[in-house]
Amino acid sequence: MTVGGSVWPRAAETVRRREPRPSNLRGTVWIVTYLLFILAPLFALLLGSHPPARSFWTEFSVAIGYSGLAMMALQFGLTARFRYVTEPWGEDVIYHFHRQISLVAVALVVAHPVILFIARPELLVLLNSFTAPWRARFAALSTYALLALVATAVWRTKLRLSYETWHLMHLVLAVAAIAAGIAHMVGWGFYLADPWKRALWIALTFVSLGLLVYVRIVKPLFLLRRPYRISEVRKERGDTWTLEMQPEGHAGLRFRPGQFGWLTVWGSPFKISAHPFSFSSSAAAADGRLAMSIRKLGDFTNQIDGVPVGRRVYIDGPYGAFTMGNPADLHVLVAGGVGITPMISMLRTLADEGDKRPVILLYGSKSWEEITFREELEALEARLNLAVVHVLENAPEGWPGERGFITAAVFKRHLPPGYAKHEYFICGPGVMMDAIENALGDELKVPISKYHSERYSFV
Ligand SMILES: Cc1cc2nc3c(=O)[nH]c(=O)nc-3n(C[C@H](O)[C@H](O)[C@H](O)COP(=O)(O)OP(=O)(O)OC[C@H]3O[C@@H](n4cnc5c(N)ncnc54)[C@H](O)[C@@H]3O)c2cc1C
Repeated sequence: MTVGGSVWPRAAETVRRREPRPSNLRGTVWIVTYLLFILAPLFALLLGSHPPARSFWTEFSVAIGYSGLAMMALQFGLTARFRYVTEPWGEDVIYHFHRQISLVAVALVVAHPVILFIARPELLVLLNSFTAPWRARFAALSTYALLALVATAVWRTKLRLSYETWHLMHLVLAVAAIAAGIAHMVGWGFYLADPWKRALWIALTFVSLGLLVYVRIVKPLFLLRRPYRISEVRKERGDTWTLEMQPEGHAGLRFRPGQFGWLTVWGSPFKISAHPFSFSSSAAAADGRLAMSIRKLGDFTNQIDGVPVGRRVYIDGPYGAFTMGNPADLHVLVAGGVGITPMISMLRTLADEGDKRPVILLYGSKSWEEITFREELEALEARLNLAVVHVLENAPEGWPGERGFITAAVFKRHLPPGYAKHEYFICGPGVMMDAIENALGDELKVPISKYHSERYSFV
């Protein structure tokens, strides 16, 4: 076992090429499609018959209202977990984009009435929902729902909303906002006099709601037919439990090491109760067996040791782009705490496949006793071309290895020079990941394309 010192793995003996990650081309095609969907409603307004033009600010406010609503409707597509769409970036990037672009969309939708009221103060009477026509009431409903959507998403923890309650509210508010927004537009009908334009917007609404039906009904139906059984619940070091799962009546899913799945343990896949976990088992298991290793942290994970063997569970996956795919002279795995789970899957897979590519694991843990998979990592060092460097927050007396946190200095002590040539995988607590990304980017000048991060928080 390596605890400190500059022990580099041997140069590559056999560097097998894994299944490549999805190409940049696919990502570009999706970006263009996304932009087209957002802009298509605006272009459609320019076709067919036109009402007489109004003041610049009125027209401008209407245009941004249309764009904002189209962006909102497309949020259902972003979060529908279509593997083919999310693969080029990874789920965390998609959710991050979803969060950021939602703020832009809401800002556009809210700017629509604000600009109108400033340009035409006589319209302020429409704010009185008791006297205003229905089309204005729908506009108000849509705007209030959007504001509530943003407030509950941004301040979820401050508002002490459990993830499940928040998720349900998020869905209800999103559907209300889109439906009321479209009702407002169709009701006003200024630009939608042509029936085909009305049909276009109504179709957009149905596509959005259809995506919701797909995620909440069609997909769970599919998962119901592909259950797994818990075959073992095993305690690991560091307050972590491993669930071993066997596919029941099907061949099981295939994943690339580093990917994750959404696990439903209590109840059916129709409940909003799935939690994301990386697969910790080898991806080379022939019989479809899977494992997830879960650290106790909150409502759901605290009950993980109580999951009975034999229980039927459901797994939606695989997802994620946190996978070894690019050739590199050295793979550097950087794990903090339970962030070791995707790494152990990578290492177990390399061992099963007899892959001797050089790998260094820099692994931060609270203490020597809490190093999850400690003994197995020692065994893997003997089987693989692997060096493990433990970094302990609370190191015992006389500890010869690294102490504190993983910093640029730790990288410099343990990695061979030519940092920009190595491929890095980072997973751990958010603060640790921020610090490591800064160290790699700012101090070691590693280009962003050479490091991959898996963040354990989407929301
Ligand atoms: C891609 C990915 C892979 C992960 N892999 C692992 C792993 O291998 N091992 C491990 O121990 N943990 C992993 N996690 C973290 C794990 O999902 C959370 O710790 C767990 O969902 C917390 O749920 P809870 O009810 O116990 O805690 P809570 O206290 O309810 O939640 C803690 C935080 O976890 C997040 N969270 C809670 N429920 C969900 C949910 N249903 N969906 C998404 N996020 C949620 C929220 O940000 C919440 O604030 C992973 C997370 C992600 C995003």
